[in-house]
Amino acid sequence: MMQAEIIAFGDELTSGQRLDTNSQWLSQQLAECGIRVLFHTTAGDDLVAGCDVFRHAIQRADVIVSTGGLGPTADDLTRECIAAACGVDLTRDESVLEHIRALFACRGRAMPERNVVQAMFPRGSRPIPNPHGTAPGIDIQVSRSGRNPARIFALPGVPAEMHDMWMATVRNALAGLSGDNRCMIRHRAIHCYGTGESAIEAMLPDLIRRGRVPAVGITASQATITLRITAEGPSPEACCAAMQPTADTIYQCLGDYIFGEDGDTLQDVVIRLLVQRGQTLATVECDSGGTLAQWLSAGDPDRRVHRGGWVLRDPVSIASVLKNAGGASETQSPLTETGLQTLAANCRTIFRTDYALALGPFPPQIESASGPPPVYIAAAGPAAVYGHSTPYAGHPDILLPRTVKEALNFLRLRLQAEESNEPAVRSSPILPP
Ligand code: AMP
Ligand code: MG
Repeated sequence: MMQAEIIAFGDELTSGQRLDTNSQWLSQQLAECGIRVLFHTTAGDDLVAGCDVFRHAIQRADVIVSTGGLGPTADDLTRECIAAACGVDLTRDESVLEHIRALFACRGRAMPERNVVQAMFPRGSRPIPNPHGTAPGIDIQVSRSGRNPARIFALPGVPAEMHDMWMATVRNALAGLSGDNRCMIRHRAIHCYGTGESAIEAMLPDLIRRGRVPAVGITASQATITLRITAEGPSPEACCAAMQPTADTIYQCLGDYIFGEDGDTLQDVVIRLLVQRGQTLATVECDSGGTLAQWLSAGDPDRRVHRGGWVLRDPVSIASVLKNAGGASETQSPLTETGLQTLAANCRTIFRTDYALALGPFPPQIESASGPPPVYIAAAGPAAVYGHSTPYAGHPDILLPRTVKEALNFLRLRLQAEESNEPAVRSSPILPP
């Protein structure tokens, strides 16, 4: 299988001012072409560093894709670096120069002298057309003694130009390179919520061991645990077939912890379940600043499910909303579990929805012998109001998203339990609606 290295050039990348999204995108694209990426290299705009990076890459990768450093300014050094690493000089391509001149003429401007460098190419290379910018890319084959040649594709840094040039030219060139031994790589991501990474791993047979085919990896992001299956095969169908038995095992072992795959989020799944049932939802949130409503409304652009909600914060205002809702006035104390359920039921009535999901005030994070304090969650539905709580603990960066996910997951489990007429996991009816 061919192996690739991706190189990103730019001082703005090495200084941390900008994130290298080009390499991420290119890795995904190369995987689609069946090419394994072994290295991501990032280098500043420096001639010595750039030459060094290309020399190493030529030795350790069959395909090298670089982005950045093809502009007309003094810090754009990619063409010089490639020429030096390949041991060739730069020559001027007259037709590219004409094209650049014509582009400037189209915009009613004379071509600055500096732009001539964009028509300079390492001897033996081919320009990669750039329909939307002045900088063409560079495609060059480099011979290596006793081995197959390496191939370099140098593309501009501007993501939109780079994407277009990849799609129009580089992708097809790579398909030609792999010939009959074409191999594809496909991934399948299975997302879980409700327990930790190590607990998930313990529920599975030995799937995550190194060298397993297909490979299974596990990652955690803001309390969502993702199992990523990766398969190689001659076609997308062959990859999917190779992954299916592993996916079946994961589903059998993890059951309800699994909420979706690939691009799915918990809010997507809740919205989908409610759309299927023709039902609607409103929200009450006391300290999450509208995150729950924002996630749901972004996931429901056609407004089929989420009708809106209350975003509350100040305890006195919460008490007055609760009083209007017919609950006991609790001005002096934080909102109780019962108070939150009253708000959920009232929100459901006022918004005329099938469900209302309420997320209680966040308690102060205090260490105590009895463990972290709870955050209350309530779901008011057509049959009853259901309550749940979750410990308010964890790293501050994920506390908000995790707590909001806990609320969404609670409603997801309720809806799924109703579909299968089983009691929902970790919930019990408390109040009549
Ligand atoms: P360059 O082709 O090096 O002149 O880059 C042009 C612009 O593209 C830069 O100013 C960045 O804004 C953007 N850019 C360059 N490299 C990357 C990268 N690896 N990821 C995301 N954006 C990039
Ligand atoms: Mg640059």
